[in-house]
Amino acid sequence: MDLQLTGKTAFVSGSTAGIGYAIAKRLLIEGAEVVINGRSQESVDEAIEKLKREVAKAQISGIPADFSNAVQVGGLIERLPDIDILVNNAGIFQPKDFADIPDEDWYRFFDVNVMSGIRLCRAVFPKMLERNEGRIIFISSESGIAIAEEMIHYSMTKTAQLAISRGLAQLAKGTNITVNSVLPGPTRSRGVKKFIEEVAESQDMSVEEAEQDFFTTNRPNSLLQRFIEVDEIANTVAYFASPLSAATNGAAIKAEGGIVTSII
Ligand code: NAD
Repeated sequence: MDLQLTGKTAFVSGSTAGIGYAIAKRLLIEGAEVVINGRSQESVDEAIEKLKREVAKAQISGIPADFSNAVQVGGLIERLPDIDILVNNAGIFQPKDFADIPDEDWYRFFDVNVMSGIRLCRAVFPKMLERNEGRIIFISSESGIAIAEEMIHYSMTKTAQLAISRGLAQLAKGTNITVNSVLPGPTRSRGVKKFIEEVAESQDMSVEEAEQDFFTTNRPNSLLQRFIEVDEIANTVAYFASPLSAATNGAAIKAEGGIVTSII
């Protein structure tokens, strides 16, 4: 299937590693020009070099900015070219007992996971309306609809993203713009690999045993019963970044390995 992404310009937040990196790579393979982002110039430069090695003729550039810092985000927005595809991917997670989550963590999670997308959309969405064309995709999570008890603050941010993407889709009624959220389930990203390695070490298990235990204990409803690969999420995102996906708008698209038991 030709996703018709040649000539499109995409920006993917938090794309020097993990799911964001895989999305940037898939969009480059499909012929889009991609602007990547990470917290430091060094991490952005490293990711650009790696992507150039992995994708022949990649049209790629990068803008560093830390999404927990509004001033840096403002600087990033000033440097952004006209964007056809915006992927709000940057996000942080950390399991923590509810009673131990201080105010600062609630605000930091909201800043990085929610305000990141709001600030980018505030800049990009009006321009898309003017051009009557565009795709916005929020990388939410299955935890946005099946709240993770071990990180309610994270789940709160992922639910918030669903409200914003649905609201913007409604504002784009009758246009060629779509705004959707993709809801990955547990995905073998850099952050999740580190998390499982830590669990394995603390419980004196091998990494494989810790992974299996995670699905038996924490995600028994998973139909996949393994971690999703980052490329599997990237493939889903690339389709919803494509002009071919015009019929899907304002949707929460599950790519969670069947964990959520509701049919719709
Ligand atoms: P990751 O930690 O592997 O990678 C995160 C990326 O975001 C990196 O490029 C990092 O540099 C960047 N980043 C982190 N904090 C940032 C900040 N303050 N400013 C700018 N960039 C920052 O993460 P991941 O697992 O690939 O997660 C990506 C997105 O997918 C997140 O929004 C996450 O909530 C969502 N998600 C992940 C999973 C999973 O299991 N991995 C499941 C559901 C949803």
